[in-house]
Amino acid sequence: MNDMIDNLRKVRERIEQAARRAGRPAGSISLVAVSKTFEARDIRPVLKAGQRIFGENRVQEAQGKWPELRQEFPDVDLHLIGPLQSNKAKEAVALFDVIETVDREKIAKALADEMRKQERQLPVYVQVNTGLEEQKAGVDPRMAVDFVDRCRRAHGLTVAGLMCIPPLEETPGPHFALLEKLAGEAGVERLSMGMSGDYETAIAFGATSVRLGSAIFGSRS
Ligand SMILES: *Cc1c(COP(=O)(O)O)cnc(C)c1O
Repeated sequence: MNDMIDNLRKVRERIEQAARRAGRPAGSISLVAVSKTFEARDIRPVLKAGQRIFGENRVQEAQGKWPELRQEFPDVDLHLIGPLQSNKAKEAVALFDVIETVDREKIAKALADEMRKQERQLPVYVQVNTGLEEQKAGVDPRMAVDFVDRCRRAHGLTVAGLMCIPPLEETPGPHFALLEKLAGEAGVERLSMGMSGDYETAIAFGATSVRLGSAIFGSRS
């Protein structure tokens, strides 16, 4: 538990240093603490240490711990960073504050419908499959700009930025560079890229938020 606080302090420091090296203000990069697989009692100390942005990859798992934690820490900002099924759109819109994984028409529509119903206009990110990996979620990079446009015009979604997860076995830099270029073309500001193994590289390429799990919470069983 003390480890997590120490880890949190260290990653914040490294984020600041990476920002400085990139000539960017440290405050321009947000830290999303990825708490998937960890329980409320593991997450609470990190909240107490002042961390407020968290990422979860499954709707159902998040429903099991966040309503309770939110009562104690109402200003939490919870991001969905895992694939979403359209039949879970209702729960996702009710629980999360940002959906980072919009990658197809059906999801865009389901989310837009739910946001209208619940009168909760959440910012979303479009996930881009920069490595064109078959097993990975995300839109084809060649379709990304058009898809952002459709999300906005046809569905009225607020697209805040783009998100990617580079292929594990490749150098991440070119994937981050591609995401940054697409964001410019699509006219979106935010770039959610960089995980525990590559966040400093991501910051060099313009990440505005990094998603860190194991660097804070330790390895997942
Ligand atoms: C699990 C996960 C992370 C965090 O991964 P670490 O390597 O533990 O930092 C970041 N982004 C997504 C989409 C994830 O699923």
